[in-house]
Amino acid sequence: MSSYTFSPVALPYGQDALAPVISAETVAFHYGKHLQAYVNNLNAALPGSGFEGKTLEEIVCQSEGGIFNNAGQILNHTLYFTQFKPAGAPGAPTGALAEAIVRDFGSFEDFKAEFQKKGASLFGSGWVWLASDPDGKLVITQEANAGNPLQRGLKPLLTFDVWEHAYYLDYQNRRPDHLAALWQIVDWDVISSRYGK
Ligand code: MN
Repeated sequence: MSSYTFSPVALPYGQDALAPVISAETVAFHYGKHLQAYVNNLNAALPGSGFEGKTLEEIVCQSEGGIFNNAGQILNHTLYFTQFKPAGAPGAPTGALAEAIVRDFGSFEDFKAEFQKKGASLFGSGWVWLASDPDGKLVITQEANAGNPLQRGLKPLLTFDVWEHAYYLDYQNRRPDHLAALWQIVDWDVISSRYGK
């Protein structure tokens, strides 16, 4: 297999494990069809593009057009699908990340409210992100389409996908309800580990 052949990240849980926050049907389409299509499109576009052998992060920071769109969506979905845990008691940040959230947003509740507001108000398709700058300061960003804060030198920590394919089967037009429910499945150990790297 060529080094520039990408594949979807392995799901760290079963396709039905996130229900009822995200149904098995949505995971089947979102992971099995949408993410797979981005992977197939990028693998088909790479030969002769000059990006063969580069990492996903390098491609996202250096490319544009179709290569960028598909590479960005693969990176974004990799971070998205690996940040969840099976539905259960909602978790909360701990340690340095918890302290930084209080320092930069006032409280965990204030942070969640701002994050949901930015996700709900993002026009069209895109992603809302929690990211950190090189000094560890936290910011919430809205990125259109396949955008990722990595493109501006920020470290991506947590993301909610606001493309309709992420929620339409379960929530139809109720994007804010979907965003509010996602806190139940965020794996804060994963987010802390991204922040600490
Ligand atoms: Mn998506």
